[in-house]
Amino acid sequence: MKKELLCTLLMENKMNIYFTFDYEIYFGENHGSVDKCIIYPASELIRISEEHNVKFVFFVDCGFVLKLDEYRKKYLELEKDYVAITNQIKYLSDTGHDIQLHIHPHWEDSFYDGKKWIINTKRYKLTDFSEAEIENIVTRYKSVLTGITNKKIFAYRAGGWCIQPFHKLKNAFLKNEISLDSSVFRNGKFESNEYDYDFTNAPDKEIYKFNNDVIVENKDGYFTELPISSIKNSPLFFWKLFLLGRKNPYLHKPLGDGKAMPAPGYRKKLLTRVTNNPVSVDGYNASLLGKALNKIVKKRLNHMVVIGHPKALSRFSIQKMEEFVIENKNKFNITTFSKEFLK
Ligand SMILES: [Zn+2]
Repeated sequence: MKKELLCTLLMENKMNIYFTFDYEIYFGENHGSVDKCIIYPASELIRISEEHNVKFVFFVDCGFVLKLDEYRKKYLELEKDYVAITNQIKYLSDTGHDIQLHIHPHWEDSFYDGKKWIINTKRYKLTDFSEAEIENIVTRYKSVLTGITNKKIFAYRAGGWCIQPFHKLKNAFLKNEISLDSSVFRNGKFESNEYDYDFTNAPDKEIYKFNNDVIVENKDGYFTELPISSIKNSPLFFWKLFLLGRKNPYLHKPLGDGKAMPAPGYRKKLLTRVTNNPVSVDGYNASLLGKALNKIVKKRLNHMVVIGHPKALSRFSIQKMEEFVIENKNKFNITTFSKEFLK
């Protein structure tokens, strides 16, 4: 009995590590295929999970699932995509992974032309819509996931990290009982014509409550922010990343076969300045997982949130992630939001 208690206490002191994946195709000119952007790389994550008995969090782009459902009766190839995606989501959920809400509302304005998706990102942010439209979108998108998983969906990650100004989303989130957000990463900032976020003044905390503004702590707030862990990268890191991609595409090229939507000035910024970025398992970023973990351990924090995208994983990053999991799964608690926050 005493030994059991000690074990429990030790378990409770272990830091939580969450691997969170935004499950989606690309939104640039070439959106890529469902198989290469989602199904295959996610099946590699399933393999890691099953070999090492760890679970992950998947933020599903449910606007896409809704669109597939809308067009699949007319186009057989979409029926195939729809079945593959919904089966995989259901499998992930049934085997203990977390399925949570990821909203890219530009699907409202996008359509299938018989050959490919015509993606219109003019209204890329949820806050580009009216409050009534936002409520309608959040409710419909959430119900897609509840329908597939039959489980409580309560956590959110904003598409493109665009969650500001949060007060426009607040009512829709309250009504849908979305109480946990993981969109913020400290000191992140980006601005373009289509989208922007500014987390420069976010609290220097690994978890906090908020109410009207996602970067202002409010101890009595209804919502919890569990930010994505943040890391400082020198330009040298991104030079290496881009050069390696050219030198050894087999190892370093993303598995997804599409192209990201343009982010003007972003690449130049990465290559010329020290930048704050989310701790990520995508591509060459995965080489920094150990370094990021050490920093978080030194600060004696309880949560490490890693972001990734099946489409942006590479053979290299899958290998690095697997090494990280093997090394750390017993030292730390690799876990999901449902396990830690739905008690
Ligand atoms: Zn996304």
